[in-house]
Amino acid sequence: MTNLIIVGTIGLDDVETPFGKVKSSLGGSGSYASLAASFFCRPGLVSVAGSDLPDKHWQLFSKNKIDTAGVEKTGKTFRWSGKYLFDMNEVKTKKTELNSLANFDPTLPPHFREAKFLFLGNIDPTIQLQVLKQMKGKPFAAIDTMDYWIELKKEKLLRVISKIQLVVMNESEARMLFDTPNLIKAGRELLNLGPDYAVIKKGEHGALFFSHNAFFSAPSYPLEEVKDPTGAGDSFAGGLMGYLTITGDTSEKNIRKGIVYGSIIASFCAEGFSLNYLSSTKLKDIKERYNLIKKIRKF
Ligand code: AMP
Repeated sequence: MTNLIIVGTIGLDDVETPFGKVKSSLGGSGSYASLAASFFCRPGLVSVAGSDLPDKHWQLFSKNKIDTAGVEKTGKTFRWSGKYLFDMNEVKTKKTELNSLANFDPTLPPHFREAKFLFLGNIDPTIQLQVLKQMKGKPFAAIDTMDYWIELKKEKLLRVISKIQLVVMNESEARMLFDTPNLIKAGRELLNLGPDYAVIKKGEHGALFFSHNAFFSAPSYPLEEVKDPTGAGDSFAGGLMGYLTITGDTSEKNIRKGIVYGSIIASFCAEGFSLNYLSSTKLKDIKERYNLIKKIRKF
C-alpha cells in the first residue's frame, strides 16, 4: 500500500562545493525526498524524467522500494547546476533547465489517490496544485518550495500553502516570501495563510517549528564533515513525512520527533555528494544519531 505520495523533480545536477564537484549526478527534490522517506515507508513518486536518465538511477529507486508508477518518461530530464562557497548554507544557482518539467501535466495512478499523506516537494506550484486536486479524501499534506518559484509564481504558491496542513521552508525563502528579516514573524505569517504547522529550516543551525499555540527549536546533528548540502532540505522533509506516515500520527508531539528524524537524515545526505552517502545509510545509523541528539539536548 502506498500511503505517502511525493511530488518533486528528478534531476541531473552539476554541483560544486569547496570539497569537490560532480557532474550529471542524480538529484531533484523528488529523488532526495523519496529516498529519505523510504527509510520508514514505501513512497509513491510523482515526477517526470527523460530517456537520458541512466538506468542505475531507476535501479536506485526500485532497490529502495520507491513506487515510480507516477513518473512520466518523456523528453529530456530536468537539469540544475549550483555552487556552494564556504558558507554551505547558501547556494548559488548557476543554471536551471526545466526541459520536460516545463510541460509536465501529472496524472496520478489510481492507487496513489487514496494515500493518507502527501508531500508537495519543491516543484512548480501549478503541478503541486494539480496533484493536490487529484487526491481523494483529505490527506495530511505538506509543502516545500524555493526562491525560483517564489520569484516566478508567488500568487499560485500562496494558494497552495492555504490548502495544506504543514509548510516547510528554509530561512532565506521564508524571509523572501514575507519580505522580513525576522523568522518568528515569517513563521507566524506562514500560519496566517492557513496551515496548522510551519517549519523553517536553518541548515546546520537546526529548524524552528511553529503551531498556533506552540514553538519548538529543533537541533541539527552536529556534523563535522559537510561535503555537499544539496538536497538536505528535501531529505529533511522526506524523512519527516516518512516518519509521520509510518506512525500515522500527526500530533504536535510526533511532528517534533519527525523533525529530529528529518534533521538526522539530512545530515547523512550532506556527508556525501548527490545521493551517494544517503543511499548507503541504514535505519540503525539514523536511530543511533537520534539517541545521541536526545542525550546532548538534556539539561
Ligand atoms: P535543496 O538543496 O534541498 O534545496 O534541493 C536541491 C535539489 O533541488 C537539486 O537536486 C535540484 O535538482 C533541485 N532543484 C533545483 N532547482 C529546482 C527548482 N526550481 N524546482 C525544483 N527542484 C529544483
